[in-house]
Amino acid sequence: MEKSPYDYSHAIEIAPRIWWVGHVLPNDPFQCHVYLIENKEESILIDPGSRLTWSGTREKILEVIPLEKIKYIICQHQDPDITTAVEELINEIGTEGRFLVTHWRSATLFKHYKWGLDFYEVDENRWRLKAGERRLEFVFTPYMHFAGSICTYDPRTGILFSSDIFGAFTDSFKLFADDAKLYFEQMKLFHTHYMPSREIVNHGMDAIEEKQIEMIAPQHGSILPKSMVPYLISRLRKLDVGIYLQFIGCKNVRRLTKANEILSKMFEQITFTTTTVYEKIGNIIMLINELFSLERIVCVSSIDGRVVLFDSSISHPIETDLNETGLYTAIEEIISEESTAYHGNSIPGTDLYSNYLIFPFVTYNEQNSANGACYFLFSEEEIIDEQDIEILKSFRKLFSIMLMKEIGYYRMQKERNELLNKTITDNLTRLYNRNYLDEIGPKELSKAKRHGYPLGVVMLDLDNFKKINDTYGHDTGDAVLKDFARFLYRNLRDGDFLFRYGGEEFLILMPFTTAEDVFHVIERLRKMLKKKSAVNSTLDPKIDYTFSAGIAEYSDEKSIDQLIKKADTLLYTAKREGRNRSALG
Ligand code: GH3
Ligand code: MG
Ligand code: MG
Repeated sequence: MEKSPYDYSHAIEIAPRIWWVGHVLPNDPFQCHVYLIENKEESILIDPGSRLTWSGTREKILEVIPLEKIKYIICQHQDPDITTAVEELINEIGTEGRFLVTHWRSATLFKHYKWGLDFYEVDENRWRLKAGERRLEFVFTPYMHFAGSICTYDPRTGILFSSDIFGAFTDSFKLFADDAKLYFEQMKLFHTHYMPSREIVNHGMDAIEEKQIEMIAPQHGSILPKSMVPYLISRLRKLDVGIYLQFIGCKNVRRLTKANEILSKMFEQITFTTTTVYEKIGNIIMLINELFSLERIVCVSSIDGRVVLFDSSISHPIETDLNETGLYTAIEEIISEESTAYHGNSIPGTDLYSNYLIFPFVTYNEQNSANGACYFLFSEEEIIDEQDIEILKSFRKLFSIMLMKEIGYYRMQKERNELLNKTITDNLTRLYNRNYLDEIGPKELSKAKRHGYPLGVVMLDLDNFKKINDTYGHDTGDAVLKDFARFLYRNLRDGDFLFRYGGEEFLILMPFTTAEDVFHVIERLRKMLKKKSAVNSTLDPKIDYTFSAGIAEYSDEKSIDQLIKKADTLLYTAKREGRNRSALG
């Protein structure tokens, strides 16, 4: 118990002639408070308590008044922690001239105790009680937490005896709360799980807010000063309620509350932020880490026949064929079993991960349908039980939304890239086309000019190509063009740009290369081509072909076109001089 300026072994006057007469139960987070309104012959006891607390409460009442002075016993609802002390009390003082003040809905239950007390039903009495000089008012707060729940309000002191509504589970006994935020966290558990709707909460809050509240004295938790009231009411009004509907089967209310918080933060992350999926996943892992020691999330999706991985430990999607690893096959099996989540320690056919949870995506419509699954990979020490799985399952929908969005984005990017590639590549040879030369040629020239490095240009043309077409047919001619393109592509350096310039003409831009060096490169290629034709030509039948080349280097040309023209002129020189050779400018 916390050190306190109050002596809880005695009655404590919380307002003039209003007393706390509860009894502290050691190590009980669910303390039950009892309040006494000292009111001469018509004193009032609010929520008397239980057999566990009665002896302590009795002692405290006796410090203030004789028990016989209690005329009204208010039971704000019907729970045993409030009502079982009633019997003890009336056994001692009798029922004559005393009333049990409650709502009719509770009275219908209380009559079964056969206490012999007369009922004072607040709903029959315009929600008021006149007791001597005191006037009390009652606030109807149905389903918080019982159909006939009421709160009691004392207009003189402004105290609202709130029954369960502002109750809390506190770590240690504290009669007066001093930290509104902390108190709210402890209070949430009262309503967040089982309260079926926010409307009910707000109905209760509306009724309560009509009163001028100076202090709230709940049955559980701590007494709340006026300063905390607006904050707590506004938080209660927005409380996520009905969590039991979301996490069927999970009974650990504290974890549920946390899970619910995480869910709403995840929702914010996914819906309202414009960050990439990777930043999101990073943040989401951090959120989930508040509950589970989650190390990594991997999402696998099959998109248009390929497998795409979104992995929180890698900052971009990976397109791959995962069948070899067995990983994707394993997932497909799990998905086809239509289980909504699968927890295990090893993935069949792999030794990649242990302690993981897999769940398939939820798909929403045909057009966006994607086959896939998420792995949650936990640390070795994390023990996942059935209830945890229920919690984790609740993340599934949000994850699916995020991934569907991401997959859509990924597809779009892919299509865009494909479209872009189409416009800059040649259909037959897959080399860059003239479009791309127009785009990049001037840039390369100005870079070379600006930085003063050499830029080599080669124009290549197959020799007597017409004859190949005429002899073997156009298709074979195409095959030769493809063969030559592949040959060039494989044997050039990364920094070189290779274009199909025209029919059987090819252009190469070689930054950082003088004409002389280009010449050596080209002559080496010529030799390789000759050898290749003899050894491993992809052509059937084998066709030996040669090329001529015009090689130039940037000197003072005004444009890339001028430089290309220079190479083209040299190409004709090479042709004129007998073909299968290079002419150097
Ligand atoms: P030279 O050694 O002087 O270059 O003689 P050549 O026969 O190679 O030159 P010419 O310009 O007379 O003929 C080029 C031929 O290339 C004509 C054209 O039909 C053919 N050609 C152009 N584009 C394609 C193509 O995409 N596929 C095929 N199969 N042939 C093509
Ligand atoms: Mg030719
Ligand atoms: Mg030609």
